[in-house]
Amino acid sequence: MQCECRKDLEAKLRDHVTAQLPEGHEGFDAKLEGYGFGIDQETMSMTSILMIPYKGEVMVPKKTGSGMKRQKINTSVRARFCPFCGAATESKEA
Ligand SMILES: [Zn+2]
Repeated sequence: MQCECRKDLEAKLRDHVTAQLPEGHEGFDAKLEGYGFGIDQETMSMTSILMIPYKGEVMVPKKTGSGMKRQKINTSVRARFCPFCGAATESKEA
């Protein structure tokens, strides 16, 4: 990611959420999900990336040939632009 949206938003969300918690709360631990690490194709260096989950399920025929079984779909797609400010996520379009 080429922007500071994640850090800025996490700080704002923390302030917003903790303002509604009772006094004396402990162990606050929250973050925006979907962020991870990947290789910036331009600089070949490690960079923060945003992955949008794609999850679901499908019924497929059993290998035995009789009946169906449930199969999970669990993959993700990498965002090319920050969903908050629109900046390209990599230093230059690959
Ligand atoms: Zn951004």
